[in-house]
Amino acid sequence: MKQILDPSQAISALERISDGVICLNLQGEITYINKAVFHLFGLKEEDQEQLFQKECFKEIKYNMMQAINQMSEIHFEVQCSVKWIEVDVYPASDGITVLFSDWTSRKKVERTIAEKQEKLILLSEATSHLFSKKEPKEILDALFKELAEYLDLNVYFNYIYEPSRNNLRLMNYSGIPKQTAEEIQWLNFGEAVCGCVARDCERIVVYDIDRSDDVRVQLVKGFGIKAYACHPLISYGKLIGTLSFGSSKRSSFSDAELELLYTICNQVASTLDRAFLIAELTLKKEEAEKANRSKTEFISMISHELRTPLNSIIGFSQILEGDSRDPLSIGQKEKVQKVLKASRHLLALFNGIINTIKLDTNHLPLNREYINMETVVLECMKMITPIADSKDMKITNLIEETPPLKTDATKVTQVMLNLLENAVKYTQEKGQITLSAQLENNHLKVVISDSGIGIPVEELEKIFAPFYRIFNDELNIEGAGMGLAIVKQLVYQIGGKVGAYSVPGKGSSFWFTLPMEEDDK
Ligand code: ADP
Repeated sequence: MKQILDPSQAISALERISDGVICLNLQGEITYINKAVFHLFGLKEEDQEQLFQKECFKEIKYNMMQAINQMSEIHFEVQCSVKWIEVDVYPASDGITVLFSDWTSRKKVERTIAEKQEKLILLSEATSHLFSKKEPKEILDALFKELAEYLDLNVYFNYIYEPSRNNLRLMNYSGIPKQTAEEIQWLNFGEAVCGCVARDCERIVVYDIDRSDDVRVQLVKGFGIKAYACHPLISYGKLIGTLSFGSSKRSSFSDAELELLYTICNQVASTLDRAFLIAELTLKKEEAEKANRSKTEFISMISHELRTPLNSIIGFSQILEGDSRDPLSIGQKEKVQKVLKASRHLLALFNGIINTIKLDTNHLPLNREYINMETVVLECMKMITPIADSKDMKITNLIEETPPLKTDATKVTQVMLNLLENAVKYTQEKGQITLSAQLENNHLKVVISDSGIGIPVEELEKIFAPFYRIFNDELNIEGAGMGLAIVKQLVYQIGGKVGAYSVPGKGSSFWFTLPMEEDDK
């Protein structure tokens, strides 16, 4: 039943509450003000005049006017010196009532929560950089160090699922002696907290462990742990293991802290998964490399072995072809020439295979010495001129006065020779070859240009691949497709680059660069 208060009772009730109340008529004159208002604003009752002079009252007065004009309630907060006050303005036809409530302590709590939240965000950001580290142990130890300080943690255990044994192995931990760790190295599914988490793939959080009889927590209880949170580590739906944190100083964790641990555990799960995958791939790569080495050795051995009988086939075929005492018939000669052609091609292929394998496997140290490109070029010219002469070709050498280079002379000579041989091979009789050099970005760029058959643009990249040849039926030029692959390898080893440009039917230019200054390694 609704009780009707008489005005004096109502007023005495308003005098007892801690919220301030002010009633004003439409002329803005105070019709009632309770004691709490003075208390809230730190004034004495006789100082009523000063109340409206307070800075914070500017905003209060403005909002009171707004409430009257709009005839609608207004709620807002004002800060008055150290206090936070919530103000509710209720307009009516005969005046307005204003309520003041002290929100200071509530504001403090809000601020503390916000600060904590901010700290957690900072911490979660700070820990994320740790995941760039390589070793899982390193990551977890560093992570725990940061978390322990903030969350008052004493221990962490990281169990890893061992599929071969179908149980869990303690891989990383902190806060317990080594000997204890050895004792709890293996855990079965369903055993202790971590075993249950792994079995059910569900987080377990236990508080007040010191007072708990739960059998699952007896192990950590023995370490003096009071609050314990254990998370399953799951990556792409696959169980990796568990990660748990415990504190002997506190008996629970807040929701925000548990959220942080959850986020971190998710990151740890994918980092560990990645680390294990990398370790597995590295092992597989090593195995594959080992198998590849054996295969390479086998191919190399076979090529060597086959060269010997092939050389005797070539030798005896040559004897047959040129035997003047017992000459072959024209038909026999043609057949022997075919044998010779095929055998020489095969020999070139074997030599190519052996050379590439040598380059790939014998990572011989660079034999660097000061050389002059002119000298190298002159040496190569001596070797190539007789072949060029046989095709009535002209070689113009424009390379002179180049600065001395510290490089591997044998490798540079081989590169130069291969490119010169090709220039002669792929240029028709009476053709032109020009050698030039220039300095470019601290490198010496050597260019071998010919007026030969040229190379289609789409083939320019491919010709440096091992055994790649451009098929040309009409010219029928022999080769194994290894010359340029060897050039590329050698130039790369001496720290340079190689390339080519060409106009089909007009000629080609092959270039390679040599660094002017190489650090002695
Ligand atoms: P090979 O000469 O034994 O075929 P290379 O690796 O030296 O092997 O060359 C690969 C291919 O590049 C050749 O088959 C040829 O088609 C093309 N090539 C190389 N040098 C030239 C050149 N100077 N002019 C035209 N084509 C060339």
